[in-house]
Amino acid sequence: MPKDLRERVVVITGASSGIGRATALEFARRGASVVLAARRGETLERVARECEALGAEALPVAADVTSEPQVEEVARRAVGRFGRVDVWVNNAGVISYGAFEDTPAAVFRRVVETNLFGQVYGARAALRRFREQGEGVLIDVSSQFGELGAPLQTAYVASKFAVRGFSDSLRAELEGSAIHVCTVLPASVDTPVYQHAANYTRATVRPVPPIVDPEDVARAIVSLARKPKAEVEVGVAGKAPKALRAASPGAYGALAAATLPKAQFAPEPSEPTEGALFEPLPEYTGVSGGWKESVSKPLRRRAAVAAFALAGAGAAAYLSRRQGQG
Ligand code: NDP
Repeated sequence: MPKDLRERVVVITGASSGIGRATALEFARRGASVVLAARRGETLERVARECEALGAEALPVAADVTSEPQVEEVARRAVGRFGRVDVWVNNAGVISYGAFEDTPAAVFRRVVETNLFGQVYGARAALRRFREQGEGVLIDVSSQFGELGAPLQTAYVASKFAVRGFSDSLRAELEGSAIHVCTVLPASVDTPVYQHAANYTRATVRPVPPIVDPEDVARAIVSLARKPKAEVEVGVAGKAPKALRAASPGAYGALAAATLPKAQFAPEPSEPTEGALFEPLPEYTGVSGGWKESVSKPLRRRAAVAAFALAGAGAAAYLSRRQGQG
């Protein structure tokens, strides 16, 4: 894949807000032609006009990624308009919060159908074109919750672990070919994903600081398209917890239980909601979710303390393991 993205064709799912919208604009700025997929067709038209204003060609295609024929149609329309697909970004995703036993079975299933099967259908559609062309880059957006468990997010975490496993295995299967599979693992990002989330906790959801800008994730994705790598993390929040989990999964679980719910939920009550899982919400179409402004300083301080505690505990566990081996 040449480093120059001009005249390259990039499909982005979940391009109507957040990371996907930022990624579309970032590719457009580099001169790539972009194909924008999500359910909110009118919003995609607006994103396409923004991309065109940056000098790129853009094709909006309304599609639900839980439908394989609709995902295949995105690929068909891309090839019909631009003749090929060079990069496919599997980004569309949703979150559900709530105790496992309070989460409706249909909601759990919908999270997996969107986050995992949406990417499986995207991979099938992209690989057909990559095989014909002899090359291509598939970029799968997982999460740092693709490596770490989190209480009250069983469906989301299970889907993101699954994406990472799918990506890892597909990469191994295609090793040695000119088809690359990359996985992106962002920490908390300032997008509307939290406003779109299903929520059965009866508390208001908020991201855990430190919060990364969606443009940082977009730049990481563009850089993978130019120079593919197996995995890229964006944001450092997961580093210490991952070290702790590697040393002691039980100790990580205890700390996650003690710290994550406090950091992830505000005291204000909220009614149970399916969020945007089954039907898209007309609002919250921006790149940003406004969280950098609204997450309070005391919360940032508390999260910093929690991160520090996790780092300390991780180091302690690691050292004691080393001593045990020595
Ligand atoms: P947003 O909610 O802003 O974006 C999600 C996108 O997915 C929207 O464009 C939405 O569009 C689309 N989408 C949702 N369901 C479907 C569906 N069934 N079919 C087609 N499109 C769908 O959130 P983010 O930008 O944050 O999320 C993008 C990805 O990044 C997700 O995979 C998320 O898990 C991941 N991520 C996000 C993090 C964060 O803190 N924000 C952290 C780690 C990973 P529409 O409603 O129009 O269909």
